[in-house]
Amino acid sequence: MDHFLYKDGRLYCEEVALEAIAERVGTPCYVYSRRTLLDHYQRLAEAFAPLDPLICYSIKSCSNLAICRTLAEAGAGMDLVSGGELHRAQLAGVDPARCVYAGVGKTDGEIRQALEASVGWFNVESESEFRTISALAQETSRRCRAALRVNPDVNPGTHRYTTTGKRETKFGVDIERAEAFFETYGRDRNCVLVGIHLHIGSGVNSTEPFVTSMRKICGLIDALVAGGHRIEMLDIGGGFGADYETHQAPPASEYAAQLVPLLLGRVKKGLQIVIEPGRTITANAGVLLLRVLFVKSSGRRRFVICDGGMNTLLRPSHYGAFHFIWPCRVRAEHVPPHRRERMDLAGLVEVDVVGPICESGDFLAQDRHLPPLGRGDLLVVFSTGAYGMVMASRYNSMPLPAEVLVEGRSARVVRHRERYDDLTAHEREPAAIFASDGPRRMLDG
Ligand SMILES: *Cc1c(COP(=O)(O)O)cnc(C)c1O
Repeated sequence: MDHFLYKDGRLYCEEVALEAIAERVGTPCYVYSRRTLLDHYQRLAEAFAPLDPLICYSIKSCSNLAICRTLAEAGAGMDLVSGGELHRAQLAGVDPARCVYAGVGKTDGEIRQALEASVGWFNVESESEFRTISALAQETSRRCRAALRVNPDVNPGTHRYTTTGKRETKFGVDIERAEAFFETYGRDRNCVLVGIHLHIGSGVNSTEPFVTSMRKICGLIDALVAGGHRIEMLDIGGGFGADYETHQAPPASEYAAQLVPLLLGRVKKGLQIVIEPGRTITANAGVLLLRVLFVKSSGRRRFVICDGGMNTLLRPSHYGAFHFIWPCRVRAEHVPPHRRERMDLAGLVEVDVVGPICESGDFLAQDRHLPPLGRGDLLVVFSTGAYGMVMASRYNSMPLPAEVLVEGRSARVVRHRERYDDLTAHEREPAAIFASDGPRRMLDG
C-alpha cells in the first residue's frame, strides 16, 4: 500500500509527477510520500491500540529530520541506537522520556549524553554495559531506568545479517542468563532494571517467530515476578515486514491479532508495552529516482548503467535484497498491473541494473525484465524508504543524494544534494596532534 501510482504512463508520488522532481532536483534522489508514511504508522498504531503501546519509531531505518518530525507529530517516540540518533530525536522535538536507547556498543560519552537527556529506558545488552551505565548514573547523579535485552533464541527466517534474536549473535543476553542477571543487578539504585527488551530480527515476514519468542518472554517475566522483581515494561522490538513484493509481509493487523491476546492481560495489570517499528513504516514510503547513463552489452549480459548504485542504495549488494525497479514513464502496455507483481514478459528485455561504482558487486538488480531503456531515461527503485539513504556512502567520492518529501501537491527538498565542497569539508585544514620532531611534545590541535 502506497501513494506511488502511474497516471497516463507517468509515475506520481501523491499528486506530484516524479519527472518534475528529477528536473528540479536532479538524480539520484530519494522521494518520500508523507501520506504513505502516516498511513503505515496509523495502521500499526490502530492494530496495537488495545495494548496502548508507546510506539518508538526506529530512527535508523530513515533518519531524515523531516521524517522524524512527521512521525513525532503523529505521536511517535523514538528507538535510538546511538548518540547521533538521540541528537536527531531532540532536534525533531521528541521528548527523550519517550525514547528507548539500545545498541551493543554505547560509549561512555553516549551514555552520559543519554543520562543528561533523561531517556525513557536504556536497553542493556551485557553485564559490563549495565555496570558502566550504573557507575555513570551514580557519578552524574542521574538515576535511570533500564530494560534487559534478552535473546529468546528464535530463528526469524530472515537474512543472516538481519537475524538478531538467535543465540550466538552479538545482541542481548541469552534467555537462560536473564534471571541470574536480575538477581545480580535487579536491585541497583542508580540504574533501575524494570523491563525486558527483545528484537528478534528485521524483515520478519511471518507472525510465528514473534509468537514463539513472546511465549518464552512471558514465561521469563512470570519467573522474574515470582522471584520478587518488578517488571513494568516490555519492549517487543521491531522487525515487522514490508511489502517489497505484493503481499510479501503480513499486514500490521495480522501481527497484532497474534500478539495482542498474548499480552492484553498483562497490560491490564499495568505492564507498559513498547514497539520499535522501522521498515514497516518507512520502506514503502520512499522511492529512489535514478537516471540511465548508458546501456551496454557484455557477452550475453545487458547492463543498464545508472547514476547511482551501491553508494546510493546498498541493500541489493549487501543483503541480496529485492527492489522492484521500473521506468518513470512507460507506454500503456507496460504499466505494471500492480507495480510489485511479476508480469507478462512480452516486450521486456532482460538486464542487470548497475551503478557507476568501481566494484563488480555494484548492482541494484540482476537478471531483471524491464521495458526497453535508453540513455536519459528515468528509473524508479521502489520501496527504498527504509535502509536506503541512511546506508548511502560517498564511496568513489560521490556526493550524497538529495531527499524530497511530498505532501499532496507540494514537494520540499528535505536534504540538499551534497556538493564537492561537502566531500572535502573536513579535510581542508589538517590539524596536528603530535609535532613531527618527536612524540613527547603534544600539541592541542
Ligand atoms: C533496527 C532495529 C529496529 C527496527 O527494525 P525494523 O526491521 O526496521 O523494524 C528495532 N529495534 C532495534 C533494537 C533495532 O536494532
